[in-house]
Amino acid sequence: MPLVRPLWAALLDLAAERDCGGCGRPQPSGEPLCPGCDDLLADGGPWRTLAAVPGTPRTHAVSRYEDPVRTMLIGYKERGRTDLRRVLGRALARAVAQTLDDAHTFPAAGGGRADRRVALVPMPSQRKAVRERGADTTARLARTAARTLREVGVPVHAVPALCHARAVEDQAGLSHDQRRQNLSGALRARRISAVAASSVVLVDDISTSGASLAEAARALRVVGVPVLGAATIAAARVRA
Ligand SMILES: [Zn+2]
Repeated sequence: MPLVRPLWAALLDLAAERDCGGCGRPQPSGEPLCPGCDDLLADGGPWRTLAAVPGTPRTHAVSRYEDPVRTMLIGYKERGRTDLRRVLGRALARAVAQTLDDAHTFPAAGGGRADRRVALVPMPSQRKAVRERGADTTARLARTAARTLREVGVPVHAVPALCHARAVEDQAGLSHDQRRQNLSGALRARRISAVAASSVVLVDDISTSGASLAEAARALRVVGVPVLGAATIAAARVRA
């Protein structure tokens, strides 16, 4: 027992002294982000993203993929900043809400219906990444975003309905065409009954070329599940 109290105190101190997960400035409040960085996620966008790959679903993001949001995402995924999950999940929820709004406005765009239960389908993480990170960070963001939306009355649940059908190369450094080839047939749908009656929104942390989202939409389409759209926190390219 004598150890418990000092350890607990040390953990509280660690939490209190954390720097802002975006700009890195000392954060005396103990909140994961300073007010300026928090505003970027709470007020940014959402913007339509520009996809380079045909077949990419209509996608919205709340930020360009640049600092400080880039640092937040790396901190959350690679550096153990699990305290960023709530704010990042909330940002993802805003992007999802915009995609759902868009589907109401342009019902033909997504190939799904916007007036029924919504399933957030996270892009599957590589098994190696899950092992190294100790968690499937994208699936966790999807669950947090779903919870955020349920709190405001949207009937939504997160369903990990995609998995890898085969190994793929790291996408970094590949051209758009190479990315599309690398990912062609790489994903497979599962738990189809859990999403079949829902409007499906794909979710991921970042969209770059759109190749992963296009492959995900294909994998679901071939089992008869249309994708309404997609949402990410950040995007390499957004419409001005
Ligand atoms: Zn900051």
